[in-house]
Amino acid sequence: MTDPPRSTRSQCPYCGVGCGLELLPPAEKGRAVKRDAEGTPMWTARGDRQHPSSLGQVCIKGATVGETLAMGRVGHPLYRSKLDQDFEPISWDDALERITSQIRQSLNNRGNADAIAMYGSGQFHTEDYYMAQKLLKGALGTNNFDANSRLCMSSAVAGYTRSLGSDGPPCCYDDIDHCSVAFLVGTNTAECHPVLFQRLLKRKKRNPSSVTIVVVDPRRTDTAKAADLHLPIAPGTDLALLHGIAHLVLRENGQDATFIDDHTENFDALFDVVARWTPRRVARFCHIPEKRLRDVAHLFHRRQRVLSLWSMGVNQRREGTAVVGGLINLHLLTGQIGKEGSGPFSLTGQPNAMGGREAGGLAHLLPGYRLVNNAGHRAEVEQIWGFQNGSISATPGLAAWQQVEAMERHELDLWWVAATNPLVSMPDLDRVKTALQNCPLVVVSEAYADSETSRYAHLVLPAAQWSEKDGAMTNSERRVTFCPAYRRRHGQSRPDWEVFAEVGRRLGFEAQFSYSSAADVYLEFTRLTQGRLCDVSGLSHDLLKREGPQQWPFPTNSEPTTASKRLYGDHHFPTLSGKARFCKEQPLGLAEPPCDAYPLVLTVGRYLGQWHTMTRTGKVERLNKMHAEPLLEIHPDDAFDLKVVNGQLAAISSRRGHLTARANVTDRIRKGCVFLPMHWGFTQELACEANTLMHDQACPISKQPELKACAVIVAPAVSVVKPIEHTGRKRQALKRLLSPALR
Ligand code: SF4
Repeated sequence: MTDPPRSTRSQCPYCGVGCGLELLPPAEKGRAVKRDAEGTPMWTARGDRQHPSSLGQVCIKGATVGETLAMGRVGHPLYRSKLDQDFEPISWDDALERITSQIRQSLNNRGNADAIAMYGSGQFHTEDYYMAQKLLKGALGTNNFDANSRLCMSSAVAGYTRSLGSDGPPCCYDDIDHCSVAFLVGTNTAECHPVLFQRLLKRKKRNPSSVTIVVVDPRRTDTAKAADLHLPIAPGTDLALLHGIAHLVLRENGQDATFIDDHTENFDALFDVVARWTPRRVARFCHIPEKRLRDVAHLFHRRQRVLSLWSMGVNQRREGTAVVGGLINLHLLTGQIGKEGSGPFSLTGQPNAMGGREAGGLAHLLPGYRLVNNAGHRAEVEQIWGFQNGSISATPGLAAWQQVEAMERHELDLWWVAATNPLVSMPDLDRVKTALQNCPLVVVSEAYADSETSRYAHLVLPAAQWSEKDGAMTNSERRVTFCPAYRRRHGQSRPDWEVFAEVGRRLGFEAQFSYSSAADVYLEFTRLTQGRLCDVSGLSHDLLKREGPQQWPFPTNSEPTTASKRLYGDHHFPTLSGKARFCKEQPLGLAEPPCDAYPLVLTVGRYLGQWHTMTRTGKVERLNKMHAEPLLEIHPDDAFDLKVVNGQLAAISSRRGHLTARANVTDRIRKGCVFLPMHWGFTQELACEANTLMHDQACPISKQPELKACAVIVAPAVSVVKPIEHTGRKRQALKRLLSPALR
């Protein structure tokens, strides 16, 4: 492509709020040309006032994205046969030949494709996601495609499906402007979804007496500071809290009996479960005053417009699906769903995790919110994909952590990681590093030259990233935005969907993988959504370019609109009976509770100015200055008991590893808990791989690991020198800091 000489519009490629951005070229008239640290002229970003989801608002990450796009990129395929060798540049032809030979060899040796797996990303465009499904699930016949959404939203997916009959958040951002209670559970919206949080604050400022903000979080986050009611519950007790609220709603006759009778089932089972969660028991279990529980329950039963927002604090739990079910229970109990200003609303972590779910981007899904274990669904997809009946396997593929376990058992011949950095984001990172070394070909499709995962790759493919390829993304409120290629591709980089399609053609599926553009790919995807809840059959790249972002459902012949849509206004749910279903799980608590040896609970989270594993935001000076280093938050009482000093280094150790961070002694965190940010991987100067400490226990339904909590011990750190060997790099001696107690 050639650079267009004018501004263009797109969706922010960071969080799931999916704000609209207006991108201005480097040399637009009247503006000085800004250059990045490598001297490349930069596009600049500002909020797009025409985007209905964000109305011109933007946070500092979105506003600085232009500074991240050209720096530190990888420009050509790189290969090495062994991880302790240096990379050599190779041609695309060689690179793709290595992938297809490995696939053929694996198919010949094993008789199926189950030793091939791909781990994708909510950073993909929908077209990338879709093509990966067609390659793995259609052409190869393995469902071993999973994405980092597994670590992020799969409990929400499973929770919606179990309670409402289908994935798909029912609400829209307009509901923030109409709610009377905002009930935020396990979400630090102020830092993780800042533009939505500002919208909520604006609503509160305009209506101080008629809007109540409730925040449930063990930390007094910036979100909690703005709350009318903060419930700093003990980690892992949220399901008991939700059952306690349901108990009080029922006891005080605050339920919507008509809604329950007409539109739900399984109410008796819920009644039995919550009957046991009396206010006194819940208060003791959650470590909160009983009065606060009663205050929150009162809001639920008296107020009519409760909007529940949640994100990773709920999803990243070994009972994540049950907690989502407990939250949806409250909305079914009070009939607060499908109405303006109310409903259960998951805030998606990544910019296109929603589009990924629509395209079938998890190991148990097919495009159009279909399931691999449904014969009818498989047949519909095979027909549109042009594969024979029976091509798609009926067995769900390996989920994210199962892919790691398969490598531990030497059961993967090819692991293809694309647009994500699991060597920072997975739990128990040392196990992941060891497992990777058992796989004969690790391929990493990546835009940037040096990520933690690339250091464990045999083959690195340069990926064209957002801004360099056309595609669509769906944000948390189901709004689809066309994201154009507005900059030249870097070096020899290619869009992921093009690479997946070429591998398909090289494997002999010429007809199935011939496309002239991303628009063609998108059109085929939209056909597979026809008649489904996430119907976008009326959308195309052309329509999105012409009419701007659109929310789904958007069936064929829909009229484009900027007005917001919500689901389930008719109270008919996509279950067999048409009724929503109450869930009835008993709380389990944390998979690894604190004990004498590891007496504290470590919880991890994000900083406002950093994004995930810092491959982009770590390149922006302004953002790095906001958060100079990762800090361990520890309560003053715990710091005193453990002799940890504010501003000094502390050593943190779990059953799986140890690391060091500077202590921030603060009552922001509750006693008995400590907090670390999750962003800093081992390529950062101040490495602090928080997820090294985390265990692999996951929700058995959603398979989402409990990345939010593990048991640790903390002690003052002293300086020692420990030799560290980074695979693929020269041996180097790095300064490590360890507590004498931990050596
Ligand atoms: Fe981007 Fe999220 Fe910030 Fe919006 S709130 S500008 S989507 S990072």
